[in-house]
Amino acid sequence: MGCDNKYNNAGVSNVSKLDLVIAGGGSAGWMAAAMLVKLLGPQLNITLVESSEIATVGVGEATIPPIRTFNQVLGIDEAEFLRATGGTIKLGIEFNHWNGPHSNYLHAFGSIGRDQGFASFHHYWHRARAEGLAEDFWHYSLNARAARAGKFAPLSHIANTPLDGLHYAYHFDAGRYAKLLQGYCLAAGVRHVDRVIEQVLLDPDNGHIQALQLADGATLTGDFFIDCSGARSLLLGDALGVGFDDYRQWLPCDRAIALPSERLAKVQPFTRSSANAGGWCWQIPLQHRTGNGIVYSADSLSDDQALVLLQQQLTGPALGEAKLIRFKVGRRRQQWHKNCVALGLASGFLEPLESTSLHLVQSAITRLVKLFPRQTINARDVQEFNRQAQTEFESVRDFIILHYHLNGRSEPFWQACQTMAVPERITQRVALFKASGRLFIEPNELFTEPAWQQVMLGQGIMPESYHTLADGLSAQQLAGFMRDLDTLYDRALNSLPSHEDYLRSQAKV
Ligand SMILES: Cc1cc2nc3c(=O)[nH]c(=O)nc-3n(C[C@H](O)[C@H](O)[C@H](O)COP(=O)(O)OP(=O)(O)OC[C@H]3O[C@@H](n4cnc5c(N)ncnc54)[C@H](O)[C@@H]3O)c2cc1C
Repeated sequence: MGCDNKYNNAGVSNVSKLDLVIAGGGSAGWMAAAMLVKLLGPQLNITLVESSEIATVGVGEATIPPIRTFNQVLGIDEAEFLRATGGTIKLGIEFNHWNGPHSNYLHAFGSIGRDQGFASFHHYWHRARAEGLAEDFWHYSLNARAARAGKFAPLSHIANTPLDGLHYAYHFDAGRYAKLLQGYCLAAGVRHVDRVIEQVLLDPDNGHIQALQLADGATLTGDFFIDCSGARSLLLGDALGVGFDDYRQWLPCDRAIALPSERLAKVQPFTRSSANAGGWCWQIPLQHRTGNGIVYSADSLSDDQALVLLQQQLTGPALGEAKLIRFKVGRRRQQWHKNCVALGLASGFLEPLESTSLHLVQSAITRLVKLFPRQTINARDVQEFNRQAQTEFESVRDFIILHYHLNGRSEPFWQACQTMAVPERITQRVALFKASGRLFIEPNELFTEPAWQQVMLGQGIMPESYHTLADGLSAQQLAGFMRDLDTLYDRALNSLPSHEDYLRSQAKV
């Protein structure tokens, strides 16, 4: 199988195809295979090796909007995708009880209101609210209003206005998605090997991976390897010895129990995240079932206690057995080392509060395509890949920590989160927002200003002031601005079908 490692040879021919081996066939493995065969198919011989004896994680059902671009690049039709995966629409996440027992807010995707020049909408809303001229913040988010009303149809912008329409992602059955991608890959020429990887063989001269030794004694050689072997990180972690940065000091949860139940009577277009005494529960509506789970810390809840909390939140009869998953939050210090890039759980894990794992797989694949080595592996490319990966991972991590840190609950687990020392980015942003409503997001950060604003407002940080530019409108103008937005959002909302009708039209529920 394969040939000599071409990256070790000085004069590789321009026409010679590289042998790319992907180890692992969970979501990460098949996503990588699909995108690489689509974009670099003529340059690569791709083999994906996985073992049907070693289960995939099998959760990973909620996503964020860029997943749509991923599917579009692959040419996957949306209706076909929704049908194949039992998918539904996700307009955001509803957070219950995070700021205290009866609290509730949404992190809705997309923009909120309309920014005015140098000051974001939030400053105008703040003044209008103080003067009794505005509804709550989420009233000016079309996504939030559609989510609450259970409505959806694709809408890129509100007709004849500069206002954004709906930003959406999907909930879907991760196992079915991997199957869909597998079919895509096999049709495009990816070779699939179902065998246990027993050993990773290294080149004694340069430490690169030479081959994977399989259970039947065969070896699978390659020029470049992608480690999608899950949390064990067989190639990057085990064989190449890349260390792991643990984030437990900020993200205390280390276990989850997943337990699907019968589909909801009404399939809502948003994920639910409900905090409890020692963690939080997710509820993810699919067409054919509801995904439920609890994420918790083994220090604060026993597995039995966690299961009871999870069972209490089920809205229908359970389907099958509860599945316990242990995990470690953190990341491999380098995601690319030698001739190996790790994706998915093999590269690290952030708990699923903001449904970011599959996105991190997607964006690492994009980064890899942009920096894909041609004749030699260039140390600068590797360095740049790792720099970008770290920046992205840490900014997503900090957004998740924000939710924990700003909680308004009284249990010891949550009080420890309130008082923990958090990364400086969070301290600085919360302090600035609290004092003045100002918020600055770095270029290329995944989570936008409205996302941070919603979590901070939703979890009790009300700014003490607003930008002076918002004083530039008379009270009458300000009231008119808010009213006009309200009218436009109302009109857009009224034109939308229910989420369920939309699914029926697309996916034949
Ligand atoms: C509780 C929980 C909830 C989550 N929720 C979400 C969510 O809502 N949204 C989201 O985006 N992400 C979520 N995730 C993350 C998501 O599930 C994973 O990031 C994603 O499924 C990618 O997993 P993976 O492919 O890296 O690993 P895995 O699914 O573990 O796949 C590993 C693959 O490697 C193969 N393998 C391993 N060892 C060997 C070997 N020795 N020989 C041969 N093959 C081998 C296995 O057969 C398997 O095919 C969640 C994760 C957890 C733990």
